[in-house]
Amino acid sequence: MPNRHSPDVVIIGAGVVGAACAYYAARSGLTVAVVDRGPVAGGTTGAGEGNLLVSDKEAGPELDLALLSTRLWRELSAALPPETEYEPKGGVVVASDEPALKALRSFAEDQRAAGVTAAEIPADRLAELEPHLAPGLAGGFHYPQDAQVQPAQAAARLLAASGAALHLGEEVTAVLRGPSGAVRGVRTARRELLAPAVVNAAGTWGGEVARLAGAHLPVLPRRGFVLVTEPLPRVVRHKVYAADYIADVASGSAALQSSAVVEGTPGGPVLIGATRERVGFDRSLSTEALRRLAAQAAALFPVLAGVQVLRAYHGFRPYLPDHLPAIGADPRVPGLLHACGHEGAGIGLAPATGVLVAAALTGAEPPLDPAPFRPERDYGPADPVPPQEQQS
Ligand SMILES: Cc1cc2nc3c(=O)[nH]c(=O)nc-3n(C[C@H](O)[C@H](O)[C@H](O)COP(=O)(O)OP(=O)(O)OC[C@H]3O[C@@H](n4cnc5c(N)ncnc54)[C@H](O)[C@@H]3O)c2cc1C
Repeated sequence: MPNRHSPDVVIIGAGVVGAACAYYAARSGLTVAVVDRGPVAGGTTGAGEGNLLVSDKEAGPELDLALLSTRLWRELSAALPPETEYEPKGGVVVASDEPALKALRSFAEDQRAAGVTAAEIPADRLAELEPHLAPGLAGGFHYPQDAQVQPAQAAARLLAASGAALHLGEEVTAVLRGPSGAVRGVRTARRELLAPAVVNAAGTWGGEVARLAGAHLPVLPRRGFVLVTEPLPRVVRHKVYAADYIADVASGSAALQSSAVVEGTPGGPVLIGATRERVGFDRSLSTEALRRLAAQAAALFPVLAGVQVLRAYHGFRPYLPDHLPAIGADPRVPGLLHACGHEGAGIGLAPATGVLVAAALTGAEPPLDPAPFRPERDYGPADPVPPQEQQS
């Protein structure tokens, strides 16, 4: 039985998505507890690069979510401490030949109709934006709305600002349900946390948490590697990537895909991300993935060919087969809400997700139509993983 100390909502997951849900739920007047089996940002959030992109999203529900998030991140940057490292640096997408440029033009036209700012940059003016870009490109587009945060800091600062009770190092082993089937809290090894609502913000492990509550959610891991170079003077000013990256993001293929996104950081190292492949939770190093990323980055910025890579790291994106996150109340289990499955865009999409979850919790009018993100939708089939690549 909930008592007067019970929170209004328990959020499972202290990644950036759980943190944003906690922040906006608290701002809506709810009392919140957040439970994570590890530390803050110990899941995929700690492996993300922090790109807040509209440039890579085709017109549609995900872009709408990204545009709302872009606005919210800007507001948050004023409300959160500078350690969040919000940087509205903008993105540059380049095309290597005329057909690729034509495709980018039509992609950008649809995005503009949805509210994106995208300016075509002729080949002879690309160097004004990025002096070290390879010569011979056909042209590109500048997306001033693309920005950046430091993901782990963002999660920590959002949680601190929410005032939520934090229970770290506690794995949720059961989602408690009453006689009617409605959720009534969660169990960890240390306690039962009772609440009339539970939010599944468990990222790549969202399918397992859904199962604990008796619901099905087909979240799968999609591995990504990132290269980090030695510190350099600012040779890359924006987020820069080739047009092929957009096709990689939209693809559901299990096979290795890579198309480098290159960006400088205030500290000096250049980040080169990120590959995509569905190999389960395989943590072994893939030299092929790293080799491809390095070659593509050097093709975009020849100056990088002679630079040392200091380290590489990887993470597992929470992938749903139709590439949209699951956000909102699950009608199959009263009191259960989901906020997971954001694949390679969870940092960017976190604030809008938090706002939608807060609206679902309080019954407020959501700022955009949440229907495309319904957790109980038909996700379609996932591209099969080749048997030799399957790992536990
Ligand atoms: C290489 C790479 C680069 C990326 N770059 C970007 C980028 O530039 N921009 C972008 O927007 N996105 C990027 N992403 C994707 C982004 O990192 C994710 O979409 C986002 O971090 C997901 O956040 P989350 O809070 O949903 O999940 P997570 O951060 O994984 O948080 C889920 C939490 O749930 C906890 N948990 C799970 N099960 C339980 C349980 N039973 N009990 C208690 N706790 C539990 C976990 O410990 C974890 O802390 C990248 C991902 C990778 C791998």
